[in-house]
Amino acid sequence: MSGWLGSEPAVIDSAEGFYLFDTQGRRYIDGVSSLWCNVHGHRVREIDEAICDQLGKVAHSTLLGLGQTRSIELAERLVEITPEGLGKVFYSDNGSTSVEIAVKMAYQYFQNIGEGGRTRFVALSNAYHGDTVGSVSVGGMKIFHGIFKYLLFKTLFVPEPHPYRFDGGAAQCAEYSLSKMRDMLDEFGGEVAAVIVEPLVQGAAGIIVHPAGFLRDVRALTREYGVLLIVDEVATGFGRTSKMFACEHEEVGPDIMCLAKGITGGYLPLAATLTTRDIFDAFLGTAAEHKTFYHGHTYTGNALGCAAAIASLRLFEENRVIESLPEKAGLIRESFGEIAGLPFVGDVRQCGMMGAIEIVMDKATKESFAYEEAVGAKLCSAMRKRGAMMRPLGDVIVVMPPVAVDTDTLRDLLKIVGDSIKEDLPKIVRSIKVQR
Ligand SMILES: *Cc1c(COP(=O)(O)O)cnc(C)c1O
Repeated sequence: MSGWLGSEPAVIDSAEGFYLFDTQGRRYIDGVSSLWCNVHGHRVREIDEAICDQLGKVAHSTLLGLGQTRSIELAERLVEITPEGLGKVFYSDNGSTSVEIAVKMAYQYFQNIGEGGRTRFVALSNAYHGDTVGSVSVGGMKIFHGIFKYLLFKTLFVPEPHPYRFDGGAAQCAEYSLSKMRDMLDEFGGEVAAVIVEPLVQGAAGIIVHPAGFLRDVRALTREYGVLLIVDEVATGFGRTSKMFACEHEEVGPDIMCLAKGITGGYLPLAATLTTRDIFDAFLGTAAEHKTFYHGHTYTGNALGCAAAIASLRLFEENRVIESLPEKAGLIRESFGEIAGLPFVGDVRQCGMMGAIEIVMDKATKESFAYEEAVGAKLCSAMRKRGAMMRPLGDVIVVMPPVAVDTDTLRDLLKIVGDSIKEDLPKIVRSIKVQR
């Protein structure tokens, strides 16, 4: 916080397409999709109009004991586009609550069906599922979560498959994590309600891309042990991985799916937790049975958010956004291929439109710079001077432009990133050494 107060922050005043403008009139490419949520760019006519039209009807009315036309329409669309089996939608207003809801839903499901001993969760180390106490409890990032450990419920953590930091090949890396998950389920299986994962990519941990097949194998394992699978698609959903949802890559149908970030095209806070008919049915019963799901937020299923989300989904179709992604992912891959050879670049990772470049002190040993040197932050502020708004995860530079970015803007962004690593990074490293 002191560092931020001591710096000169950029203050965004307006935006146009894939660019942000600050109060000084400077222009930046939105290189991280306004924290991974923007899809079609800013001030998109169709979404703006959908929100204005909705304002002419109603901005918000509660979903507690009432219906609302836009929320019904969006729920129908979500059921159509998500993996088969997910037929029920529970709204909230951000990614953390969508996970909070998933966790409570899985827990109460087993209470309701008479398997009350299933009270625990299995998650991956370095997982990130949000910042509320329940979602932090299933999160595994020491730097964010360590201080709160006495506030949290105890989760069973399995090492995440992280090929760059694993001594061995990608297949062995996945196999290792899976065998640890199997051991965990062997030991605690009867106490476990669900396994929760970020499918394919662990975002906040540094865009860790899991080896192919890992998600499918986790699904098989959860079936074998009779535990639920919760997939947190808050970051990966809505085109980020080059398919609409990451689960599609491995034809996985989860029991519960969490959606937020890109759901409204990055316009308004809205989230959804989807589940199966089976789980839904377990919450039915007489009033005396108390099977209902006691969870609801004031702004659950906000009508303006739902209107924006419907408009965003329509744009996905009209602009054939998903079909345009392989070409753009190819541009990122090409550029990352060159960047990988530059000094201090330890690893480049990519899954569709999610990219990351890990900066290290020593490429051979993979040793990182000290946290307090803030090399990632310094490099991102150099990129900002070159016209790209970036935000790192430690020393991992995240490259995540809006999914619908045009190829010219994407090329400009990749050039800024590459040039900055080539020219600014060696200077940053020299200045650290001089200070020492
Ligand atoms: C961002 C994120 C969340 C939390 O979403 P918020 O809307 O910031 O609360 C949860 N899970 C994943 C995977 C995320 O990337």
